[in-house]
Amino acid sequence: MNPKRIRQLNQIKEQNSNAVLYWMDRERRSQDNWALIAAYGHAKRNKVPLHVLYAIPAAFYEAGSRSYQFMLKGLQETAQTLFDLNIHFTLKVEDPVQTVLQCVKQNKISAVYTDLASLRLPRSWRTQLAKSLDVPFFEVDARSVVPVFETSNKKEYSARTIRPKLHSKLAEFLDEFPKLSPFKYNTGVEACKVDIAFILKKLGLDSRPIDLHFQPGVKAAKKMLSSFIKDHLSIYDKGRSDPNAQALSNLSPYLHFGQISAQRVLLNLVSLPESDNKNSFIEELFVRRELAENFCFYEPNYDNFSGLHVWAQTTLNQHRNDPREFLYSQQEFEESNTHDFLWNAAQNQMKLEGKMHGFMRMYWGKKILEWSKGPEEALKIANYLNNKYELDGRDPSGYTGVAWSIGGVHDRAWFERPIFGKVRYMNFNGCKRKFNVEAYIEKYSN
Ligand SMILES: Cc1cc2nc3c(=O)[nH]c(=O)nc-3n(C[C@H](O)[C@H](O)[C@H](O)COP(=O)(O)OP(=O)(O)OC[C@H]3O[C@@H](n4cnc5c(N)ncnc54)[C@H](O)[C@@H]3O)c2cc1C
Repeated sequence: MNPKRIRQLNQIKEQNSNAVLYWMDRERRSQDNWALIAAYGHAKRNKVPLHVLYAIPAAFYEAGSRSYQFMLKGLQETAQTLFDLNIHFTLKVEDPVQTVLQCVKQNKISAVYTDLASLRLPRSWRTQLAKSLDVPFFEVDARSVVPVFETSNKKEYSARTIRPKLHSKLAEFLDEFPKLSPFKYNTGVEACKVDIAFILKKLGLDSRPIDLHFQPGVKAAKKMLSSFIKDHLSIYDKGRSDPNAQALSNLSPYLHFGQISAQRVLLNLVSLPESDNKNSFIEELFVRRELAENFCFYEPNYDNFSGLHVWAQTTLNQHRNDPREFLYSQQEFEESNTHDFLWNAAQNQMKLEGKMHGFMRMYWGKKILEWSKGPEEALKIANYLNNKYELDGRDPSGYTGVAWSIGGVHDRAWFERPIFGKVRYMNFNGCKRKFNVEAYIEKYSN
């Protein structure tokens, strides 16, 4: 694999190779996973055992039972495929830092690998481990096609600035994944049981099974990708702005939970004939997604007002005292209790299916700004709801989408108007011109 995907997070050299650990965090799959491939390669070269550990902290942002059920069902499948690969897999519901340290001690681990994270909490785990581990600790970017630290060494201004950087490095990083075969240097590998109801109870979450709307797991992700390419890609470019059309890939929950890698999706796409649909999809999957990763990786204030561009902060400050025709609390937003049936329908779609249509997310975010006390409160409410209800929430693409809608991140200044200042505005009539709003409202009205 390309060694540029790997960075060492501490300065320690391996003394005697004894066993290797992959602390699986974001990339919950056993194939097409550069972090596992790197750990596997290290253990194989030294002919030593390989362990994989997954640790579930007491809480992860505002994730609810639906998100955990989706993730845990996927982990059941991954536990099985790791067993088939003769790899030790352990799952713990405990603090990740302490769990990794214990595992290293118990199994005499001599090198630790993990995958790359961009959000504050998982980054803080990596920082703590880099300080506490007395063995080498490596981070592998198995999320972005071009590793986030290779694309750029700074926060990029917009898609216009990151696009050429990404495309110029694509050929170097878009390589086929080696297929892992059963690992030879492990003995006594046991199946790991992922008891979903027990874990949910331990986390204090509702343990009753929910209709997930999307089938979770690696196999389901591959099926979703094939069905998208076969049946929906041909209308993607024009259809993606119509929430009633079945034009989207619905891959975001799988990408978010690491049940499919964006690189696998891109590999399947690049061989298709050139078309506007293909290019438009690659722009979203590759450029926009990796721009979001870049934003959260380099901007510590990705979820608050200080992380917005100066022009956006200035204009929003100038308009913060503008009168609001409607003002709603977090609870009213959460309960889909606004005067706007279209907004309520979008909120219902998210609560009901765990995934709001991409076009509606922009309208949804912008209206939260229009109907909140100020931009800080709007960012807080939008991130809270997005994290709680979207299967793909708690993700750089979520924080960046909210920052785009409310704070003009990666966008340019538009004509000035009340409340929004120069931040791009969207309204009901604009939606009406684009799609059949009545049909959408009808489908998702209470
Ligand atoms: C307010 C707001 C909140 C959002 N919250 C999230 C979120 O929590 N998680 C999330 O993954 N995306 C989020 N997005 C981005 C985008 O709306 C979703 O990625 C998309 O709707 C997911 O559905 P899909 O996979 O069917 O999309 P498709 O249109 O089929 O796109 C394929 C993939 O491209 C990527 N992508 C598409 N649009 C964007 C975008 N604007 N920015 C970054 N990546 C993109 C995603 O990985 C997506 O899965 C948000 C956007 C906004 C405006």
